[in-house]
Amino acid sequence: MKILISGAGIAGLTLAYWLKRCGFMPTLIEKHPCSRKGGYKVDVRGAALEVAKRMGIYQALIEANVNLNHSQFVTSDLKVFKFEGDILGHCSEGDVEINRWDLSQIISQALGDVEIIYNDSITKLDEKVVHFEKMAPREFDLVIGADGIHSKVRNLTFGEDSKFLRKYGIHFCIFPITNIFELVRSEIVYFDKGTLVSAYAVDGHSLACLAFKSEGDNLPQDNKKGIFEERFKNMEWEIPRLITAMKAHDDCYFDSIAQVRMSNWSKGRVALVGDAAYAATGIGTSLAMVGAYVLASEIARSGGNHALAFARYEKVIRKFVEKGQNLSQSNLQFLANENSWLIKCQIKLMKMLPGKSIRLLSKWGRWQMKKAANAISLEDYP
Ligand SMILES: Cc1cc2nc3c(=O)[nH]c(=O)nc-3n(C[C@H](O)[C@H](O)[C@H](O)COP(=O)(O)OP(=O)(O)OC[C@H]3O[C@@H](n4cnc5c(N)ncnc54)[C@H](O)[C@@H]3O)c2cc1C
Repeated sequence: MKILISGAGIAGLTLAYWLKRCGFMPTLIEKHPCSRKGGYKVDVRGAALEVAKRMGIYQALIEANVNLNHSQFVTSDLKVFKFEGDILGHCSEGDVEINRWDLSQIISQALGDVEIIYNDSITKLDEKVVHFEKMAPREFDLVIGADGIHSKVRNLTFGEDSKFLRKYGIHFCIFPITNIFELVRSEIVYFDKGTLVSAYAVDGHSLACLAFKSEGDNLPQDNKKGIFEERFKNMEWEIPRLITAMKAHDDCYFDSIAQVRMSNWSKGRVALVGDAAYAATGIGTSLAMVGAYVLASEIARSGGNHALAFARYEKVIRKFVEKGQNLSQSNLQFLANENSWLIKCQIKLMKMLPGKSIRLLSKWGRWQMKKAANAISLEDYP
Protein backbone atom coordinates (compact mmCIF):
# COMPACT_ATOMS: atom_id res chain seq x y z
CA MET A 1 0.00 0.00 0.00
CA LYS A 2 1.39 3.40 -0.95
CA ILE A 3 0.73 5.90 1.82
CA LEU A 4 1.38 9.63 1.62
CA ILE A 5 1.54 11.66 4.83
CA SER A 6 1.21 15.43 4.47
CA GLY A 7 3.16 17.19 7.24
CA ALA A 8 6.36 16.12 8.99
CA GLY A 9 5.46 17.47 12.43
CA ILE A 10 4.87 15.40 15.58
CA ALA A 11 1.80 13.58 14.21
CA GLY A 12 3.28 12.93 10.75
CA LEU A 13 6.60 11.63 12.06
CA THR A 14 4.94 9.41 14.70
CA LEU A 15 2.56 7.99 12.11
CA ALA A 16 5.45 7.34 9.68
CA TYR A 17 7.39 5.60 12.48
CA TRP A 18 4.53 3.22 13.28
CA LEU A 19 3.62 2.55 9.65
CA LYS A 20 7.23 1.70 8.93
CA ARG A 21 7.37 -0.57 11.94
CA CYS A 22 4.22 -2.31 10.67
CA GLY A 23 5.94 -3.01 7.33
CA PHE A 24 4.84 -0.04 5.17
CA MET A 25 7.16 2.47 3.51
CA PRO A 26 5.23 5.77 3.76
CA THR A 27 6.22 8.98 2.01
CA LEU A 28 6.14 12.29 3.87
CA ILE A 29 5.63 15.65 2.23
CA GLU A 30 6.52 18.81 4.18
CA LYS A 31 5.88 22.31 2.93
CA HIS A 32 8.90 23.78 4.70
CA PRO A 33 12.32 23.48 3.10
CA CYS A 34 13.53 21.46 6.11
CA SER A 35 12.16 20.10 9.39
CA ARG A 36 10.41 23.03 11.02
CA LYS A 37 12.47 24.25 13.98
CA GLY A 38 11.27 26.27 16.91
CA GLY A 39 8.37 26.23 19.32
CA TYR A 40 7.99 26.52 23.07
CA LYS A 41 7.87 23.46 25.31
CA VAL A 42 5.13 20.90 24.69
CA ASP A 43 3.82 18.15 26.94
CA VAL A 44 3.90 14.40 26.47
CA ARG A 45 1.52 12.91 29.01
CA GLY A 46 -0.55 9.90 29.99
CA ALA A 47 -1.17 7.45 27.15
CA ALA A 48 1.30 9.31 24.91
CA LEU A 49 4.08 8.29 27.31
CA GLU A 50 3.06 4.67 26.77
CA VAL A 51 3.31 5.25 23.00
CA ALA A 52 6.78 6.75 23.53
CA LYS A 53 7.81 3.69 25.58
CA ARG A 54 6.64 1.37 22.80
CA MET A 55 8.65 3.45 20.30
CA GLY A 56 11.77 3.06 22.44
CA ILE A 57 12.16 6.84 22.80
CA TYR A 58 10.98 7.21 26.39
CA GLN A 59 14.50 7.42 27.80
CA ALA A 60 15.46 10.08 25.24
CA LEU A 61 12.38 12.08 26.26
CA ILE A 62 13.31 11.82 29.92
CA GLU A 63 16.81 13.06 29.13
CA ALA A 64 15.43 16.01 27.16
CA ASN A 65 12.76 16.77 29.79
CA VAL A 66 12.97 20.47 30.59
CA ASN A 67 12.16 19.54 34.20
CA LEU A 68 11.37 23.01 35.47
CA ASN A 69 12.03 23.05 39.18
CA HIS A 70 10.38 26.35 39.91
CA SER A 71 8.21 29.07 38.43
CA GLN A 72 7.63 32.71 39.17
CA PHE A 73 4.35 34.46 38.72
CA VAL A 74 4.44 38.23 38.23
CA THR A 75 1.23 40.18 38.79
CA SER A 76 0.28 43.36 36.95
CA ASP A 77 1.41 45.40 39.99
CA LEU A 78 4.79 43.64 39.67
CA LYS A 79 4.55 41.47 42.78
CA VAL A 80 6.50 38.25 42.29
CA PHE A 81 5.34 34.88 43.69
CA LYS A 82 7.54 31.80 43.57
CA PHE A 83 6.36 28.22 43.23
CA GLU A 84 7.88 24.77 43.04
CA GLY A 85 7.53 23.04 39.68
CA ASP A 86 5.65 24.62 36.79
CA ILE A 87 2.42 26.54 37.21
CA LEU A 88 1.34 26.97 33.60
CA GLY A 89 1.91 23.51 32.17
CA HIS A 90 -0.31 21.39 34.47
CA CYS A 91 2.46 18.82 34.60
CA SER A 92 1.93 15.87 36.91
CA GLU A 93 4.68 13.63 38.11
CA GLY A 94 5.91 11.46 35.24
CA ASP A 95 4.78 13.85 32.48
CA VAL A 96 7.46 15.03 30.11
CA GLU A 97 7.77 18.67 29.12
CA ILE A 98 10.09 19.02 26.19
CA ASN A 99 11.15 21.62 23.64
CA ARG A 100 8.98 20.93 20.56
CA TRP A 101 12.06 20.85 18.36
CA ASP A 102 13.79 18.27 20.61
CA LEU A 103 10.73 16.03 20.46
CA SER A 104 10.60 16.32 16.69
CA GLN A 105 14.29 15.38 16.40
CA ILE A 106 13.95 12.40 18.75
CA ILE A 107 11.04 10.96 16.73
CA SER A 108 12.91 11.63 13.46
CA GLN A 109 15.91 9.71 14.73
CA ALA A 110 13.74 6.76 15.75
CA LEU A 111 12.05 6.85 12.34
CA GLY A 112 15.31 6.59 10.40
CA ASP A 113 15.20 6.51 6.60
CA VAL A 114 11.93 7.27 4.85
CA GLU A 115 11.20 9.35 1.79
CA ILE A 116 10.59 12.96 2.86
CA ILE A 117 9.83 15.52 0.19
CA TYR A 118 10.50 19.02 1.52
CA ASN A 119 9.39 22.35 0.15
CA ASP A 120 6.26 21.08 -1.58
CA SER A 121 2.58 20.72 -0.84
CA ILE A 122 -0.46 18.84 -2.13
CA THR A 123 -2.72 20.91 -4.39
CA LYS A 124 -5.33 18.40 -5.55
CA LEU A 125 -6.51 14.91 -4.69
CA ASP A 126 -7.98 12.81 -7.50
CA GLU A 127 -9.29 9.24 -7.36
CA LYS A 128 -5.79 7.71 -7.08
CA VAL A 129 -3.50 10.51 -8.18
CA VAL A 130 -2.11 13.25 -5.93
CA HIS A 131 -1.08 16.58 -7.46
CA PHE A 132 1.61 18.83 -5.99
CA GLU A 133 2.74 22.42 -6.24
CA LYS A 134 6.14 21.49 -7.66
CA MET A 135 6.48 17.76 -8.16
CA ALA A 136 4.83 15.76 -10.97
CA PRO A 137 1.62 13.94 -9.93
CA ARG A 138 2.05 10.57 -8.20
CA GLU A 139 -0.22 7.67 -7.30
CA PHE A 140 -0.98 6.86 -3.66
CA ASP A 141 -3.52 4.47 -2.15
CA LEU A 142 -4.01 6.46 1.09
CA VAL A 143 -3.42 10.10 1.93
CA ILE A 144 -3.13 11.16 5.56
CA GLY A 145 -3.35 14.80 6.55
CA ALA A 146 -0.93 15.45 9.43
CA ASP A 147 -0.39 19.01 8.30
CA GLY A 148 -1.40 20.86 11.42
CA ILE A 149 -4.14 23.22 12.43
CA HIS A 150 -4.38 24.89 9.00
CA SER A 151 -4.33 21.53 7.19
CA LYS A 152 -4.33 21.62 3.41
CA VAL A 153 -5.58 18.03 3.20
CA ARG A 154 -8.55 18.89 5.43
CA ASN A 155 -9.29 21.91 3.30
CA LEU A 156 -9.18 19.89 0.05
CA THR A 157 -11.21 16.98 1.40
CA PHE A 158 -13.67 18.44 3.91
CA GLY A 159 -13.94 22.11 2.91
CA GLU A 160 -13.34 25.54 4.37
CA ASP A 161 -11.40 25.91 7.65
CA SER A 162 -14.19 28.06 9.09
CA LYS A 163 -16.40 24.95 9.37
CA PHE A 164 -13.99 23.29 11.77
CA LEU A 165 -11.85 25.91 13.48
CA ARG A 166 -13.06 27.07 16.88
CA LYS A 167 -11.13 30.26 17.48
CA TYR A 168 -10.55 32.11 20.73
CA GLY A 169 -9.08 35.37 19.44
CA ILE A 170 -5.82 34.61 21.31
CA HIS A 171 -2.71 35.26 19.25
CA PHE A 172 0.78 34.25 20.23
CA CYS A 173 4.35 34.64 19.13
CA ILE A 174 7.26 32.40 20.20
CA PHE A 175 10.92 33.26 19.77
CA PRO A 176 14.28 32.55 21.40
CA ILE A 177 15.79 35.14 23.74
CA THR A 178 19.00 35.58 25.65
CA ASN A 179 18.42 34.64 29.26
CA ILE A 180 17.42 38.15 30.34
CA PHE A 181 15.55 36.89 33.41
CA GLU A 182 18.56 34.85 34.55
CA LEU A 183 16.35 31.79 34.85
CA VAL A 184 17.81 28.43 35.75
CA ARG A 185 15.51 25.55 34.79
CA SER A 186 12.54 27.73 35.54
CA GLU A 187 9.75 29.72 33.99
CA ILE A 188 8.45 33.21 34.58
CA VAL A 189 4.89 34.22 33.79
CA TYR A 190 3.35 37.67 33.68
CA PHE A 191 -0.39 37.94 33.41
CA ASP A 192 -2.39 41.10 32.92
CA LYS A 193 -5.84 41.73 31.49
CA GLY A 194 -5.93 39.94 28.17
CA THR A 195 -2.19 39.41 27.87
CA LEU A 196 0.18 36.71 28.95
CA VAL A 197 3.94 36.85 28.73
CA SER A 198 6.15 33.92 29.64
CA ALA A 199 9.71 32.77 29.28
CA TYR A 200 11.72 29.77 30.39
CA ALA A 201 15.35 28.75 30.28
CA VAL A 202 16.92 25.32 30.33
CA ASP A 203 20.50 24.30 29.54
CA GLY A 204 21.48 27.54 27.90
CA HIS A 205 18.30 27.83 25.80
CA SER A 206 15.72 30.44 26.59
CA LEU A 207 12.40 30.99 24.84
CA ALA A 208 9.70 33.59 25.25
CA CYS A 209 6.03 33.71 24.41
CA LEU A 210 3.86 36.79 24.02
CA ALA A 211 0.11 36.24 23.84
CA PHE A 212 -2.86 38.56 23.71
CA LYS A 213 -6.58 38.47 23.26
CA SER A 214 -8.05 40.56 20.46
CA GLU A 215 -11.57 41.52 19.46
CA GLY A 216 -11.38 39.77 16.08
CA ASP A 217 -10.38 36.15 15.59
CA ASN A 218 -7.94 36.77 12.77
CA LEU A 219 -4.82 38.88 12.52
CA PRO A 220 -3.76 40.26 9.15
CA GLN A 221 -1.14 37.95 7.62
CA ASP A 222 1.46 40.67 7.06
CA ASN A 223 3.27 42.76 9.65
CA LYS A 224 2.57 40.45 12.59
CA LYS A 225 5.59 41.79 14.45
CA GLY A 226 4.17 45.30 14.13
CA ILE A 227 0.82 44.15 15.50
CA PHE A 228 2.47 42.53 18.54
CA GLU A 229 4.65 45.59 19.08
CA GLU A 230 1.58 47.84 19.03
CA ARG A 231 -0.39 45.61 21.42
CA PHE A 232 2.42 45.44 24.00
CA LYS A 233 3.64 49.02 23.74
CA ASN A 234 3.61 51.08 26.94
CA MET A 235 3.52 47.92 29.03
CA GLU A 236 5.81 47.68 32.01
CA TRP A 237 8.09 45.04 33.40
CA GLU A 238 10.58 43.53 30.92
CA ILE A 239 8.16 43.70 28.03
CA PRO A 240 10.04 46.37 26.03
CA ARG A 241 13.15 44.12 26.04
CA LEU A 242 11.11 41.17 24.86
CA ILE A 243 9.63 43.22 22.03
CA THR A 244 13.15 44.19 20.95
CA ALA A 245 14.16 40.50 20.97
CA MET A 246 11.08 39.54 18.95
CA LYS A 247 11.79 42.19 16.34
CA ALA A 248 15.38 41.03 15.98
CA HIS A 249 14.54 37.34 15.44
CA ASP A 250 13.85 36.28 11.85
CA ASP A 251 11.94 33.01 12.45
CA CYS A 252 9.32 33.79 15.10
CA TYR A 253 6.50 31.25 15.31
CA PHE A 254 3.18 33.11 15.10
CA ASP A 255 -0.22 31.49 15.36
CA SER A 256 -3.61 31.86 17.04
CA ILE A 257 -5.08 29.47 19.54
CA ALA A 258 -7.85 27.40 18.03
CA GLN A 259 -9.37 23.98 18.29
CA VAL A 260 -10.33 21.80 15.36
CA ARG A 261 -13.65 20.06 15.96
CA MET A 262 -14.92 17.63 13.35
CA SER A 263 -17.67 15.01 13.39
CA ASN A 264 -15.54 12.61 11.32
CA TRP A 265 -11.86 12.46 10.46
CA SER A 266 -11.89 10.47 7.25
CA LYS A 267 -13.47 10.48 3.84
CA GLY A 268 -12.76 7.87 1.17
CA ARG A 269 -9.03 7.16 1.12
CA VAL A 270 -8.15 10.29 3.13
CA ALA A 271 -7.84 10.51 6.94
CA LEU A 272 -6.63 13.23 9.30
CA VAL A 273 -4.44 12.92 12.39
CA GLY A 274 -3.10 15.32 15.06
CA ASP A 275 -3.86 19.04 14.96
CA ALA A 276 -5.32 18.72 11.45
CA ALA A 277 -8.17 16.69 12.98
CA TYR A 278 -8.32 17.61 16.68
CA ALA A 279 -6.03 20.47 17.71
CA ALA A 280 -6.17 21.34 21.43
CA THR A 281 -3.81 23.51 23.47
CA GLY A 282 -1.96 21.79 26.31
CA ILE A 283 -2.80 18.24 25.27
CA GLY A 284 -2.52 18.45 21.46
CA THR A 285 0.90 16.78 21.23
CA SER A 286 -0.25 13.83 23.33
CA LEU A 287 -3.45 13.46 21.29
CA ALA A 288 -1.35 13.56 18.10
CA MET A 289 1.05 10.82 19.25
CA VAL A 290 -1.72 8.53 20.49
CA GLY A 291 -3.86 9.20 17.39
CA ALA A 292 -0.96 8.43 15.04
CA TYR A 293 -0.19 5.19 16.89
CA VAL A 294 -3.81 3.99 16.80
CA LEU A 295 -4.25 4.98 13.13
CA ALA A 296 -1.10 3.14 12.01
CA SER A 297 -2.05 0.06 14.05
CA GLU A 298 -5.55 -0.01 12.55
CA ILE A 299 -4.22 0.41 9.00
CA ALA A 300 -1.86 -2.50 9.62
CA ARG A 301 -4.59 -4.69 11.11
CA SER A 302 -7.20 -4.02 8.47
CA GLY A 303 -5.56 -6.12 5.74
CA GLY A 304 -5.97 -3.37 3.13
CA ASN A 305 -9.52 -2.41 4.11
CA HIS A 306 -8.83 1.25 4.81
CA ALA A 307 -12.52 2.08 5.41
CA LEU A 308 -12.50 -0.38 8.31
CA ALA A 309 -9.18 0.98 9.59
CA PHE A 310 -10.40 4.59 9.57
CA ALA A 311 -13.70 3.68 11.23
CA ARG A 312 -11.90 1.77 14.01
CA TYR A 313 -9.40 4.62 14.48
CA GLU A 314 -12.21 7.12 14.99
CA LYS A 315 -14.13 4.82 17.33
CA VAL A 316 -11.10 4.06 19.51
CA ILE A 317 -9.90 7.61 20.07
CA ARG A 318 -13.03 9.79 19.74
CA LYS A 319 -13.90 9.93 23.48
CA PHE A 320 -10.27 10.42 24.51
CA VAL A 321 -9.93 13.32 22.06
CA GLU A 322 -13.16 14.95 23.19
CA LYS A 323 -12.20 14.78 26.88
CA GLY A 324 -8.86 16.41 26.09
CA GLN A 325 -10.44 19.10 23.94
CA ASN A 326 -13.13 19.93 26.50
CA LEU A 327 -10.55 20.34 29.25
CA SER A 328 -8.27 22.42 27.03
CA GLN A 329 -11.21 24.65 26.18
CA SER A 330 -12.09 25.31 29.81
CA ASN A 331 -8.42 26.07 30.59
CA LEU A 332 -8.44 28.75 27.91
CA GLN A 333 -11.26 30.66 29.53
CA PHE A 334 -8.82 32.70 31.58
CA LEU A 335 -7.52 34.57 28.59
CA ALA A 336 -10.48 34.12 26.30
CA ASN A 337 -13.36 35.22 28.47
CA GLU A 338 -12.23 37.64 31.14
CA ASN A 339 -15.82 38.81 31.69
CA SER A 340 -17.33 35.53 32.89
CA TRP A 341 -18.34 35.50 36.58
CA LEU A 342 -16.09 32.50 37.26
CA ILE A 343 -13.04 34.27 35.88
CA LYS A 344 -13.89 37.45 37.79
CA CYS A 345 -14.13 35.44 41.04
CA GLN A 346 -10.82 33.71 40.32
CA ILE A 347 -9.05 36.99 39.60
CA LYS A 348 -10.46 38.53 42.80
CA LEU A 349 -9.31 35.53 44.79
CA MET A 350 -5.86 35.72 43.20
CA LYS A 351 -5.56 39.36 44.19
CA MET A 352 -6.52 38.64 47.81
CA LEU A 353 -4.64 35.37 48.25
CA PRO A 354 -2.29 35.12 45.27
CA GLY A 355 0.02 32.37 46.51
CA LYS A 356 -2.66 30.07 47.91
CA SER A 357 -5.13 30.43 45.07
CA ILE A 358 -2.53 29.92 42.33
CA ARG A 359 -1.31 26.78 44.09
CA LEU A 360 -4.86 25.49 44.42
CA LEU A 361 -5.76 26.22 40.80
CA SER A 362 -2.56 24.61 39.64
CA LYS A 363 -3.24 21.45 41.69
CA TRP A 364 -6.78 21.23 40.34
CA GLY A 365 -5.51 21.76 36.78
CA ARG A 366 -2.91 19.00 37.13
CA TRP A 367 -5.44 16.51 38.45
CA GLN A 368 -7.86 17.18 35.60
CA MET A 369 -5.13 17.00 32.97
CA LYS A 370 -3.84 13.69 34.30
CA LYS A 371 -7.33 12.21 34.07
CA ALA A 372 -7.85 13.42 30.48
CA ALA A 373 -4.41 12.30 29.27
CA ASN A 374 -5.03 8.78 30.55
CA ALA A 375 -8.59 8.44 29.28
CA ILE A 376 -7.78 5.68 26.77
CA SER A 377 -6.56 2.13 27.05
CA LEU A 378 -3.95 0.92 24.57
CA GLU A 379 -4.10 -2.68 25.79
CA ASP A 380 -5.64 -3.83 22.52
CA TYR A 381 -2.52 -2.87 20.62
CA PRO A 382 0.76 -4.77 20.61
C1 LIG B 1 7.24 25.40 14.32
C2 LIG B 1 6.19 24.95 15.27
C3 LIG B 1 6.20 25.42 16.58
C4 LIG B 1 5.22 25.03 17.48
N1 LIG B 1 5.28 25.48 18.74
C5 LIG B 1 4.39 25.07 19.64
C6 LIG B 1 4.45 25.49 20.99
O1 LIG B 1 5.33 26.26 21.35
N2 LIG B 1 3.52 25.05 21.88
C7 LIG B 1 2.54 24.19 21.48
O2 LIG B 1 1.73 23.79 22.33
N3 LIG B 1 2.43 23.76 20.22
C8 LIG B 1 3.34 24.18 19.28
N4 LIG B 1 3.24 23.75 17.99
C9 LIG B 1 2.15 22.87 17.63
C10 LIG B 1 2.39 21.46 18.15
O3 LIG B 1 3.57 20.96 17.59
C11 LIG B 1 1.18 20.62 17.79
O4 LIG B 1 0.04 21.18 18.40
C12 LIG B 1 1.23 19.17 18.24
O5 LIG B 1 2.52 18.72 18.48
C13 LIG B 1 0.55 18.28 17.21
O6 LIG B 1 1.40 18.18 16.10
P1 LIG B 1 0.95 18.06 14.59
O7 LIG B 1 2.02 17.26 13.93
O8 LIG B 1 -0.44 17.61 14.46
O9 LIG B 1 0.99 19.57 14.05
P2 LIG B 1 2.26 20.49 13.79
O10 LIG B 1 3.29 20.30 14.82
O11 LIG B 1 1.74 21.85 13.57
O12 LIG B 1 2.89 19.92 12.42
C14 LIG B 1 2.31 20.10 11.17
C15 LIG B 1 3.39 19.98 10.11
O13 LIG B 1 2.77 20.07 8.83
C16 LIG B 1 3.48 20.98 8.03
N5 LIG B 1 2.56 21.53 7.05
C17 LIG B 1 1.65 22.52 7.21
N6 LIG B 1 0.97 22.72 6.07
C18 LIG B 1 1.46 21.84 5.16
C19 LIG B 1 1.18 21.57 3.80
N7 LIG B 1 0.26 22.26 3.10
N8 LIG B 1 1.88 20.57 3.18
C20 LIG B 1 2.84 19.88 3.84
N9 LIG B 1 3.16 20.12 5.13
C21 LIG B 1 2.49 21.07 5.77
C22 LIG B 1 4.03 22.00 9.02
O14 LIG B 1 5.13 22.70 8.49
C23 LIG B 1 4.41 21.11 10.18
O15 LIG B 1 5.70 20.57 10.01
C24 LIG B 1 4.18 24.13 17.05
C25 LIG B 1 4.15 23.66 15.74
C26 LIG B 1 5.14 24.06 14.84
C27 LIG B 1 5.11 23.53 13.41
